[in-house]
Amino acid sequence: MSLQNLLDFDAVQLGAWFAAQGEKPFRATQVLRWIHRYGEADFAAMTDLAKTLREKLVAKACVVPPPLLSSRVASDGMHKFLFDVGGGNAVESVFIPEAGRGALCVSTQAGCALECSFCSTGKQGFNRNLTTAEIIGQLWQANRALGRDPKGERIISNVVLMGMGEPLANFDSSVTALRLMLDDNAYGLSRRRVTVSTAGLIPAMDRLREECPVALAISLHAPDDALRDTLAPINKKYPLADLMAACRRYLEKAPRDFVTFEYVLIDGVNDHEHDAKALISLTRQVSCKFNMIPFNPFPGSGYRRSRPERIRRFVDILLRAGIVTTIRKTRGEEIDAACGQLAGQIRNKTRRGAQTARGMLEEQTS
Ligand code: SAH
Repeated sequence: MSLQNLLDFDAVQLGAWFAAQGEKPFRATQVLRWIHRYGEADFAAMTDLAKTLREKLVAKACVVPPPLLSSRVASDGMHKFLFDVGGGNAVESVFIPEAGRGALCVSTQAGCALECSFCSTGKQGFNRNLTTAEIIGQLWQANRALGRDPKGERIISNVVLMGMGEPLANFDSSVTALRLMLDDNAYGLSRRRVTVSTAGLIPAMDRLREECPVALAISLHAPDDALRDTLAPINKKYPLADLMAACRRYLEKAPRDFVTFEYVLIDGVNDHEHDAKALISLTRQVSCKFNMIPFNPFPGSGYRRSRPERIRRFVDILLRAGIVTTIRKTRGEEIDAACGQLAGQIRNKTRRGAQTARGMLEEQTS
């Protein structure tokens, strides 16, 4: 009989599993705290549990996060974790420090099926969905590595599902992991401090709003359907007018009163003045902020980053229209941890410059 990995369960599921073992619900809560609040994987160390229960757990269960393959820190404080998820695949998390604490950018899939043209995870193709244990296990491992500040607060204060993969295409595992992040007996993060980033899977956005509303970021990248179809092909299925309507619906239940639009600035592709003006009318009906991301190149992308003065001009047009707009700092490049550079596969790691997808956050950490 294979052991049940308890990292796959949120509080309700853990309670059900304990009930099936003939154990009381409060025992499940105790174990949940040990695993997530205290980062304990060894049942023998869970000293307030009866010895018989500890022995039962050892016989039937385990706490197994994805193994940490490597951990690198850049001079700007970006900290990249590489995890083995089996079958020659690896996924990455990146910790982005901000004034003492910071955000962990977590992956939800090995690879990605959406094929956004500017994203190296997209170029790499789709391998598989991560399990809940593999998603929450990234936070579990990073918390263990980073620890607490002098006041006893966890260093990781925010989480963004903005690493490799599309979280809403791996809905159930992502939402179970989100529930653990929000659970007071686990990570106890507020809904405002947990962000899902999506390329715009509308039916799943509606489900998320009902089942687990957290802060929302939308990868927008273009002001009109013709251009967005080429950059993010999912747009052919869920075009912009419908996406804007879905954002408005989401805001009815969202913990924050705005959505964040992420916009990767690619030289000569989506960074014209007329693009900025078109964005203003596109988003007129949606309470939003913009987060501009200078494109991070990777081998074979065929795109270039917009020049700083072009970025400035683009941002000024949005600002003059009264839209709160930030430019994401580019950090972590020396360890290939910048947005769009997270590597997916272990075998790629042996080649210099084998970079992959994914982004991290600067501004959504407060
Ligand atoms: N699938 C989700 C989450 C993946 S991360 C989504 O699309 O939102 C997505 C973010 O990574 C994008 O919004 C983009 O901001 C960033 N990104 C991807 N490739 C990038 C690149 N080459 N340069 C800069 N940012 C990139």
